[in-house]
Amino acid sequence: MDHVSPCEAEARPYNAVSSRWRALFGGAARKVPLDAGFGCPNRDGALATGGCIFCNARGSGTGLGSRMPLAGQWAYWSQRLRARWGQELALVGYLQAFSNTHGPAARLAAVLRELAALPDMAGLCLATRPDCLDAEKIALLAAFPVKEFWLELGLQSSNPATLARIRRGHDAACFAQAVRTAADAGLKVTAHVMAGLPGETRADWDATVDFVNALPVAGVKFHNVYAAKDTELARMHLAGEAPLPELEEYADFVACALARLRPDVVVHRLHADPAHGELVAPAWAGARRRLHNTIAEVLRVRGVRQGMNRTERT
Ligand code: SF4
Repeated sequence: MDHVSPCEAEARPYNAVSSRWRALFGGAARKVPLDAGFGCPNRDGALATGGCIFCNARGSGTGLGSRMPLAGQWAYWSQRLRARWGQELALVGYLQAFSNTHGPAARLAAVLRELAALPDMAGLCLATRPDCLDAEKIALLAAFPVKEFWLELGLQSSNPATLARIRRGHDAACFAQAVRTAADAGLKVTAHVMAGLPGETRADWDATVDFVNALPVAGVKFHNVYAAKDTELARMHLAGEAPLPELEEYADFVACALARLRPDVVVHRLHADPAHGELVAPAWAGARRRLHNTIAEVLRVRGVRQGMNRTERT
């Protein structure tokens, strides 16, 4: 689950979404995972069947989509989160699993109607692929009645060879077009990017950050690459075909990216969180506190501040 902890320190050298939400909602916020049962064209045969090499059959979801209506999921998670963090906790719905605009616009419209009826929703984040959007779907999203809405779009890398290698099924131009169209409609877009993808160099990573900087992107999520069970990446890694970054290397990726990133971009995550039981490698990807602390220490020691090394691109 994606968290913005009420206990996390506010003084960060980057534009953290937790700070934004504290100011916006007047207190701490937590994401509520919601699974609307969407699929993905990169898995269901519409585009391909194998999926991205790092993706398993859960598609980063809770798996509740086929078993529980959205209202039931919302009630279940809201009660648990508020029992733990307090009744004043702001709740932000999060449709993470698979591609949440895949399929006909009418289906998206029906899901959005269900979501709009959920009680006490402070915000909504909805993740999808850039090739699962058109003008009609973007208009539906832009009209969603909530105080804070984020459209999350996967890019992972701007390098065409990497996108082919990870079997992404779309190119960087598709991502750029979707970002521009969504931003023109008034949507805030969060870009997902991955550091340490097979075959990538530091120059590739820097180029991806610069590519994002040059687009009307309002937010970013940094993900470390990890091999999950039952994925092509796990097979490649175990066969010695896909070495994965060390923890210190990943912390360096994050530090350099933050230093290059436009100061106005809201940082939603600094690393991925493997689901329970799915991690194959590297082991450090499952040690959340150690990972968090290592990144924080690298930022502190280097005096990193978001945007301090920004490279202008036209
Ligand atoms: S686009 Fe997302 S859900 Fe689809 S295969 Fe890739 S990672 Fe999985």
